[in-house]
Amino acid sequence: MPAIDPKDLKILITGGARGIGAATAQLLAEQGASVLITDVLDDEGQDLARRLGAPARYRRLDVTSATDWHDAVHAAEEALGGLNALFNNAGILGFGTIDETEPDSFRRIMDINVTGCFLGMRACAPALRRARGGVIVNCSSTAGLQGYGGLSAYVTSKWALRGMNKAAALDLAPDNIRVLSLHPGPIRTPMTDVIPGDTAAAQPIARFGEPEEVARMVRFMLCEASYSTGSEFVVDGGAVTGQVLRLQA
Ligand code: NDP
Repeated sequence: MPAIDPKDLKILITGGARGIGAATAQLLAEQGASVLITDVLDDEGQDLARRLGAPARYRRLDVTSATDWHDAVHAAEEALGGLNALFNNAGILGFGTIDETEPDSFRRIMDINVTGCFLGMRACAPALRRARGGVIVNCSSTAGLQGYGGLSAYVTSKWALRGMNKAAALDLAPDNIRVLSLHPGPIRTPMTDVIPGDTAAAQPIARFGEPEEVARMVRFMLCEASYSTGSEFVVDGGAVTGQVLRLQA
């Protein structure tokens, strides 16, 4: 199968008003893709769409709402002339050990990070079928490949998403729909403002990543990875490879 030209992408991005979602929307729009940016941050989303110009639009979509999803898919098909890609990017972080985390907080993280992606795939699959196939990228994390202390609900949600990604890849393969999971390490976005800069010090690439570096991976997954489905794409500065011992001379 040939690579997909970004100009042929008609994509809905969740949580696209800022951070990784915004960087991806920008990269794809600059390369000619038709992009529906969605988020719950309306002012930031509208500003971004205005800045990017015609092929980009903004619409409010709370990923936990099945009604919002139904309406957004309908709007995307109308505005973009179809839908052949979904970036399930919206997510929230939450701190707390397994015994400190409040049940409501746990449920909220699962609702956005897991159920939100489920509702998205469920709502978009018929549109992708109408487009005779497409691609879904689900944003997990290195927290979906290993554990992190003090992030119990977040880690749980990102492992769940990795599993759901594989189930969906199998279910949607007969419809020519690829489903891939994305696993970023620490990336400098508003979400990680509270995380100290030296967190990445022992990584092989000893710095936080930039949202644009993740966006380029997402573009690769969408456009180039024609022989991949159900698989994990890691963009983490080597974080899950291990720690580098930087010995003093
Ligand atoms: P940001 O917080 O910068 O952006 C996420 C966006 O999603 C925000 O605009 C946020 O709005 C929005 N959002 C939150 N809840 C909902 C909802 N219910 N419906 C729709 N949108 C919502 O995060 P990042 O760009 O850093 O993260 C994007 C994805 O990447 C997330 O899934 C995250 O878990 C994942 N990730 C990020 C890493 C990082 O280091 N930054 C590392 C690994 C994975 P609001 O302000 O209201 O929350």
